[in-house]
Amino acid sequence: MSARILDGNRIRDEIRLELRREVEKMAAGGIRPGLAAVLVGENPASQIYVRSKVKMCESLGLYSEKIELPASTPTAELLDLVQRLNQRDAIDGILVQLPLPPQIDTRRVLQAVDPDKDVDGFHPLNAGKLMSGQAALAPCTPAGIMQILDRSRVPIAGARAAVIGRSDIVGKPVALMLLHRHATVTICHSRTVNLAAVAREADILIAAIGRPALVTADFIKPGATVIDVGMNRLTTEEEVRRAFHHPEKALQDLAAKGSVLVGDVQPDDVREVAGAFTPVPGGVGPLTIAMLMANTIQAARTRRGKN
Ligand code: NAP
Repeated sequence: MSARILDGNRIRDEIRLELRREVEKMAAGGIRPGLAAVLVGENPASQIYVRSKVKMCESLGLYSEKIELPASTPTAELLDLVQRLNQRDAIDGILVQLPLPPQIDTRRVLQAVDPDKDVDGFHPLNAGKLMSGQAALAPCTPAGIMQILDRSRVPIAGARAAVIGRSDIVGKPVALMLLHRHATVTICHSRTVNLAAVAREADILIAAIGRPALVTADFIKPGATVIDVGMNRLTTEEEVRRAFHHPEKALQDLAAKGSVLVGDVQPDDVREVAGAFTPVPGGVGPLTIAMLMANTIQAARTRRGKN
């Protein structure tokens, strides 16, 4: 039997409608939430991400600013910019697109963002609030995963969940969110012994690894819900053949476009073993941007309400 596809684009559209209504209500009260997206250097993937974020702002009627700085920008200059954005009333959310060039002290930059404008949820104050279960600006990808689970009516309380990956931006925060919702959570990483057997215990399996198609049939409990966060771009025939059991279509895409996107989960296996899964592309990715918009709107409501 083929698993249910959890369609991220459809869920994103649903959320977008709700957000648009919210923005209209705020506009009637004279508030237009604003996002500043800061891009340092010319990383092509970052350029695409920032462009889609600005585009979604426009489609929702949010104010947005894209600030581009050269790759050689020193930390002090970026800190200066962040301080100026912190002080501007029209800016409710500040997003510094990662990764930053190597000469920049990323941690210092993220800590300089006003926690009330930290729409990526990366500031230690917001990370601490998430840890203790207080409402805060939460990281967008984990928040998007929770939306997918909730809106697809996947039961969380009491479920066994396994998260593969322990990064500060995906693995750890999503594990905390699942824990707050009363799942029994196991966090796995590169040193986990017998990873497949641990993963196979899970009713909800989250793969946030960054390794093409690492999660194969033997990792998946039959009927489990599998959320694939990975976004791995393959550029050679060898990589495509390794990642796909049936590589014909992917090889055609590779020839036509020069690259193919694959998640951390083997796409053919998950279809056969899981009960439900998010595809790549079209699963978690669309939700990340939607939650950034939701955070910007929430930041505007909280901060301007306070003032
Ligand atoms: P990251 O910071 O590189 O973390 C990767 C995690 O995976 C680490 O905890 C690492 O373990 C673990 N890992 C690596 N190899 C492993 C293995 N062989 N077995 C078990 N665990 C292993 O990555 P990230 O930023 O969390 O991102 C993960 C993936 O999600 C990437 O593909 C990224 O592109 C994608 N992503 C997608 C979105 C979206 O919107 N869809 C957003 C963010 C990220 P150790 O800690 O032991 O090294």
